[in-house]
Amino acid sequence: MNISRLARAIAESPTFALNEEARILRERGEPVINMSIGEPKNKTPITAILSSATKLSGGDIKYTPPDGTPSLKKAIIRYTEENYNKIIAPENVIISSGAKQSIFNILYSIINPQDEVIILAPHWVSYPEMVKMVYGIPVIVTPEDGTFHPRMEDIERAVSSYTKAIIVNSPNNPSGEVFSPEFIAQVVEFCERKKIFLIMDDIYHKLVFDGSVWEPAYKYTKADIENTMVIVVNGVAKLYGMTGFRVGWAIANRKLVEVMTNVQGQMTSCTSALLQAAAEGALNGMQSVVENLRLTFQNNKQVVVQELKSFKGVRLIPPKGTFYALPDFRAYLPSSLANDSVELAKLILKKALVVTVPGKEFGMEGHLRLSYAGSVKDIKEGIERIKWVLDPTSPNEIYIGDRKLVRDWL
Ligand code: PMP
Repeated sequence: MNISRLARAIAESPTFALNEEARILRERGEPVINMSIGEPKNKTPITAILSSATKLSGGDIKYTPPDGTPSLKKAIIRYTEENYNKIIAPENVIISSGAKQSIFNILYSIINPQDEVIILAPHWVSYPEMVKMVYGIPVIVTPEDGTFHPRMEDIERAVSSYTKAIIVNSPNNPSGEVFSPEFIAQVVEFCERKKIFLIMDDIYHKLVFDGSVWEPAYKYTKADIENTMVIVVNGVAKLYGMTGFRVGWAIANRKLVEVMTNVQGQMTSCTSALLQAAAEGALNGMQSVVENLRLTFQNNKQVVVQELKSFKGVRLIPPKGTFYALPDFRAYLPSSLANDSVELAKLILKKALVVTVPGKEFGMEGHLRLSYAGSVKDIKEGIERIKWVLDPTSPNEIYIGDRKLVRDWL
């Protein structure tokens, strides 16, 4: 088949592949616990349902302007003022089919072939692939001090004359790290000075725990919206549990938004009118929805931290936000698996029917990403099962569903 070299080089989204595997096993009646899932389990906020239902029952679902409906833009402008303390105009906003498309659209609009984009490990799986999709070069920067917190010195060392952008995602998928205000201030100052785009992926920005503070990058720039290098990405997927609605947005200077609008207009025309109405309902509705999710994840995080404590060799940097943890399993990796998190995740799935995501996908070998967006019961049982697979000091027998299993490999 004559598939393009570029398309062939793009990896499958591992998280979607794992979700699919979990779904198939569950359909077969297997008692699978899915700790790979990247979405809250709540029901759609009622205001989002009502707003889209009103739109639907009106029977007038047409194209919208390519950059989004004026009324959703209005809600985003208000959201930005309230949460970012930034006044922006409708011309600074473009709405897309998920924050994922927003990021792709930004990259498509700023990257020339061979331009470099700095990605901070551990990183969301899609950034490097998206950079490659626009013929750019992902440059992965890993903190050399063994933490999940990026350091300016590591970034500065990786910057070259080809560096076009840096992507910062805090709170971070997959580590749950929230970057310090000092770091945000430094990276903003650096990017403004060097004229490097700073793409802030703020999709988890309200999901922070125990007094951790998320601060908008805008706070640290003196430049106005038309001159700043900061580009903000956000959406309704994670904060409102509306992953299936596929609505995200980007905020940038008018010129860039204009280019992105042309790109999007040629690609998808616009985001679905119905789903934009739903997002508008969420943004204009009761914000206690978000706080309830935050409290749930904060509690679940505590459970994960507690349960992993009994795993003597596992090192966990406690998450400060999101609904992910990224424990280091290297101490438990059987020598046959060496440092191979993919094989480790496969082993755990095969033996104990728990789906996790290998750290390799995020640039952190030897780790597994565990999502705690699920129920406390699943989190506890999932970690107990993983323990049974790996830890010789844990009981030799376990019930998985109604089957009693005996460990005979340690
Ligand atoms: N950024 C990060 C860091 C994410 O984890 C995700 C979703 N997994 C997205 C962006 C994409 O969000 P959306 O569903 O709005 O496309």
